[in-house]
Amino acid sequence: MLLTIGEFGHASGLSPKALRLYDELGLLPPARVDPLTGYRFYDPAQLERAGLVAWLRRLGMPLARIRVVCDLAPAAAAEAVAAFWAQVESDTDARRDLATFLVDHLSRKDTVMERTGAALAIRYAALTDTGLIRESNQDAAYADARLLAVADGFGAGGAPASAAAIDALKRLDLADSTRTGTTSPGVPAGGLLNALENAVQEANEAVRGLAGPDGALQGPGTTLTAMLWTGSQLALVHIGDSRAYLLRGGELFQITHDHTLVQSMVDDGRISAGEAASHPQRMLLLRALDGGDASTADLRLHDALPGDRYLLCSDGLTTVVPGPEIQRVLASVTDPEQAVRELIALANAGGGPDNVSCAVADVVEAAAGPAR
Ligand code: MN
Repeated sequence: MLLTIGEFGHASGLSPKALRLYDELGLLPPARVDPLTGYRFYDPAQLERAGLVAWLRRLGMPLARIRVVCDLAPAAAAEAVAAFWAQVESDTDARRDLATFLVDHLSRKDTVMERTGAALAIRYAALTDTGLIRESNQDAAYADARLLAVADGFGAGGAPASAAAIDALKRLDLADSTRTGTTSPGVPAGGLLNALENAVQEANEAVRGLAGPDGALQGPGTTLTAMLWTGSQLALVHIGDSRAYLLRGGELFQITHDHTLVQSMVDDGRISAGEAASHPQRMLLLRALDGGDASTADLRLHDALPGDRYLLCSDGLTTVVPGPEIQRVLASVTDPEQAVRELIALANAGGGPDNVSCAVADVVEAAAGPAR
């Protein structure tokens, strides 16, 4: 007993228009087409597939992908839906950051930036160490008067990868934006972030160029967490599981979000932060500069205040040294150089299982001391 397109549409919740489209795409061909009238007829057994198509459409899955999923066995289809959704969430994360930035940027345009007092500058130090277990150091750390960066390379060619990531940022010609600050009308903040985005893409291509012959066990890649100082703001670039922290008013805030599988599981409420720390797949990165297409970094502008202290570090610090210890050192050791030395010493006192990198910057009033 076949159903007319109207009956089938009613039973499946799909409009006749949608059913005709799905027929043309080969997604859901009718059981029979009347050769004289061209009317389409459907078998009630097709309702299950129609229902799946309708659900996947509601999920926002593209039709071409739906066709593939519909032909999979249930277990494989479930995996395909999960993979699709993970991709959507990752894209949404990146777009949320962009939206946050745009809201911030547009709100700022109506605000007269009244910055009283002296110009701001940063005092900085950076240090990287092999640790006690690894044979070589694939981390890189860098600090100068306008750029702070840490990168944690991995795979065959991890060391050149982390170096290339930081080099791409060092090459940025931000003379204009750093001199005038991003709030000046001539230098929109968007220009700075675009320049950063381009630098990240350049770095990603450089990493792609480091890849060995096909079949290499693991191609090179790197994390990158960096801050560009504009004179009043910090432009933050972040991809991977290195971190940026802010010590403000004695409190320590993590201001980056790890791009790791376990962090996404914590976000979803599937595991606790404590469980994440010992999860067998805690090393698995969802995003990194690995020469692939999904190497999108989080970018954002951050208002700096005099007295702020920033720490960038690789996971060689955070997996070994507990947050309260990091906070204690940052809050009590005034000299940035001394602070990075003590943090790295703590990682090594904890066994030094990984390469470890730290960069520390203090925001100070320029008159208060020489920027070095
Ligand atoms: Mn590491």
